[in-house]
Amino acid sequence: MEQLWAPWRMKYIEYTTIKKENGCFICKAIESKNPDECYVVHRTSHTIVLLNAFPYNTGHLLIAPVKHVADLSQLLQDDLCDLAITLTKSIELLKSAFNPDGFNIGMNIGKVAGAGLDTHVHVHLVPRWLGDTNFMPIISNTKVIPEALSDTLTRLKKHLEKLS
Ligand SMILES: [Zn+2]
Repeated sequence: MEQLWAPWRMKYIEYTTIKKENGCFICKAIESKNPDECYVVHRTSHTIVLLNAFPYNTGHLLIAPVKHVADLSQLLQDDLCDLAITLTKSIELLKSAFNPDGFNIGMNIGKVAGAGLDTHVHVHLVPRWLGDTNFMPIISNTKVIPEALSDTLTRLKKHLEKLS
């Protein structure tokens, strides 16, 4: 599925290039001295929350352990608990910032399951609105992302108390 958001195309290309060079864009975001550039929304001692640079919808978040592991079984109980708690709080964050009607939450484990990054396990959290599957994807296989990632980040940061 193609995505149509031409005004921010340059940033998108830059980010894609960074991703390819570095290997793991989640670790890059964790280690970054400028987390906004990597669209980091929040960080706890065990978990990071960032915007997906290839969103299915506005507000599409990735929630990942700080540890670079490919599988949930490689995480300790503290990591797993914090991941679940941070996921729960992230849902509240999106409710507060975007008022969605529902959510899709899922993980792609392994390339065959559709993981773009299969070496660092992460949860996709996608807000959904009534009618958001509109005619565009059906007739043209193109999805319109109505908000720039930087605007989404700014909006989410106004509701960060939901993550504390
Ligand atoms: Zn990683």
